[in-house]
Amino acid sequence: MVAIAQLSYSSIRAYEECPLRWKFLYVDRLPEAPRGYFSFGRTVHSVLEELLQPFVVPAGRRSPDGAHQRTLDEFPAGSSGTSRPPWSEAELLAAYDRHWTGEGYTSKEEEARYRALGREILLGYRETLEREPPRPIAIEEHLTARWDGVPIHGFIDRIDRTDRGGLVVLDYKTTRDLSVRDASTSDQLTLYQVLVEKNFSDPVEALSLFHLRSLTPLTTPPRDRSAIEELSVRVGQVSDGIRSDAFEPTPGRQCSRCDFRDRCPEFRPVPAPDRPRLQGLVDRFEGLRAEEERISEELARTAQELHQAAETLGVHRVEGHRVAAVRKREESWSYPPEVVRPILEAFDLSRRAPTGSPEEIRRLLRDPTVEAEIRRKIAESGSRRIRWYWELE
Ligand code: SF4
Repeated sequence: MVAIAQLSYSSIRAYEECPLRWKFLYVDRLPEAPRGYFSFGRTVHSVLEELLQPFVVPAGRRSPDGAHQRTLDEFPAGSSGTSRPPWSEAELLAAYDRHWTGEGYTSKEEEARYRALGREILLGYRETLEREPPRPIAIEEHLTARWDGVPIHGFIDRIDRTDRGGLVVLDYKTTRDLSVRDASTSDQLTLYQVLVEKNFSDPVEALSLFHLRSLTPLTTPPRDRSAIEELSVRVGQVSDGIRSDAFEPTPGRQCSRCDFRDRCPEFRPVPAPDRPRLQGLVDRFEGLRAEEERISEELARTAQELHQAAETLGVHRVEGHRVAAVRKREESWSYPPEVVRPILEAFDLSRRAPTGSPEEIRRLLRDPTVEAEIRRKIAESGSRRIRWYWELE
């Protein structure tokens, strides 16, 4: 059984995408190939962390048992927060150069493109600090908590205080495209809200993805209880899966960026001696599939032609040279819930048709203990579908 240390947003997402890839990453601790966009994101985050640190103001926090709230007296003296960027443009660019690593870029040109983009982002960001100095209470804060028995953690890019004394949880994104919809559906922000609520005493008033390329915060209200419970259920399922050693490969789009394909059974190559025989089987399978599609289309066309002729002539049995084709009728009923439900409720019959399935409704319609007038109303709420098909005799 794998013991869970702590689940982060990215490990939860990795397990949901493919449990086997999660195992390669978090149990076997296999390294992934470096990628330029990750290294770019890390560099920009590190510079922002240093740039923003002097703005940080103290905040009340919960102690680990959740009972005690720290007061201002417990914060170090001088931690009142600045209102001006601590660095000139030249100092900012020097810090950027210091943090830059060329790791993972596919070419010198790509690295140069990213480097210029980062410079533009950071200079623009510094300007916004001059215009609107933020009031963060934490920068790159590592928070941990137990959530419904599951240990979770996360690094929160920035937590701001609002004028009303609440908190805004903010995550920086260096991605090209981002929308408010991304912010309002981000599981990462939901998890961060939970972490912040469990570690700080002030209420979370908003969640925000900060789009660095346009220097735009995409802000949404905090998640409601049902969204939080929904994620809690998923986190519980991930935790149960890990504890029960459920590490099945789950192939999908993520495979194209998975570094462990050479270890994954889904991508295990067929041994050379078996290859010709299996190739032949695949080719035959492909051919039969194509034939199957052609036959089923022709079958449907012929049945339709027979049906039209039978309708015109008013016949149901047509003799061929060897067998006869007989036209059969199948009837089905459906009762739209928005129509039938109010009738059932009005006559106190909901308990006798709890799911409202056609079978339950048909049973009620046959039940002599239900008044004939009520049965007529229920029957009128249904719609009938007739399907004709042919059988050979
Ligand atoms: S290749 Fe696909 S299925 Fe295999 S471990 Fe990677 S993500 Fe999972």
